[in-house]
Amino acid sequence: MNVMRAMVLEQVGAPLVARQLAVPHPGPGEVRLAVDACGVCRTDLHIIDGELPDAALPRVLGHQVVGTVAEVGAGVTALAWGDRVGVPWLAWTCGSCHYCASERENLCSAARFTGYHRDGGFAEACIVDARYVFRLPAAASPVQMAPLLCAGMIGYRALRFAAGARLGLYGFGAAGHLVAQLARHQGREIYAFTRPGDLATQAFAREIGATWAGDSDRRPPVELDAAILFAPVGALVPLALAAVAPGGTVVCAGIHMSDIPAFPYQLLWQERSVRSVANLTRADGRELLALAGPAHLHPHARVYPLAEANRALDDLRAGRGDGAAVLVTR
Ligand SMILES: [Zn+2]
Ligand SMILES: [Zn+2]
Repeated sequence: MNVMRAMVLEQVGAPLVARQLAVPHPGPGEVRLAVDACGVCRTDLHIIDGELPDAALPRVLGHQVVGTVAEVGAGVTALAWGDRVGVPWLAWTCGSCHYCASERENLCSAARFTGYHRDGGFAEACIVDARYVFRLPAAASPVQMAPLLCAGMIGYRALRFAAGARLGLYGFGAAGHLVAQLARHQGREIYAFTRPGDLATQAFAREIGATWAGDSDRRPPVELDAAILFAPVGALVPLALAAVAPGGTVVCAGIHMSDIPAFPYQLLWQERSVRSVANLTRADGRELLALAGPAHLHPHARVYPLAEANRALDDLRAGRGDGAAVLVTR
């Protein structure tokens, strides 16, 4: 195989373009993966829309990659041909800065990200740094594993900052439906908020185990202990603050959000807090994968052929379909 199919972002704001690209070869410390499946994430939409500043185009997007090692670069001993691995958003960190040295590599200012600074998994092959991938069981379903690599892992990181028994989830897509499963496993109650009038997603949330599901501009029937915002809508921040009890936390889990409107201090008073969650560490990824079995994590995946990446992205943007979108290469 000398050429591969890839869906390429060539111009901000334009659909991805199907291209035949030369198959890349791994440098020292890297491996080439034959891509089996790759999840589609809202961050991909933010990159396409030009809302993240650093994408050098053309770029192959996709940062929830499940693949099989097809070529091993010099010096790689931890992986071998045929191994099944998962590739997350975090592609590389400096390893020596203040953040890297204190188990906060997610905040490394030199960090590089998959499908953003480096070509990702919307292709038949990709090159990854062997130190930043996760070994997956050979028998695991690529379609089932892919959504865990961002929606699951960054969702898990957000969940760790959202303490308490009554958890609100604003946005019930790929991350929301996985975090709901984790939180149910922890014995917590889920209150799911969707776009106003999205009764189908509200019904889906109840199926997943939500105690209550309703429109994002409504107050839940009880005060929440914490809320996680997966929807990239700043106007939800004051709504979520109004829904959490004294001492509660509102966690903004997306990489980009529209502006947060001014709100009265009364909403923050009584030790409520607002915080963001940025990226993930490799430890987050390992912990989430270890939890997936015991928590019976079961992504609801909508499968699209690689060539239909634009349809998958359009459906995500429009909120069509439940769960997580996953591209498959064959
Ligand atoms: Zn993502
Ligand atoms: Zn660093």
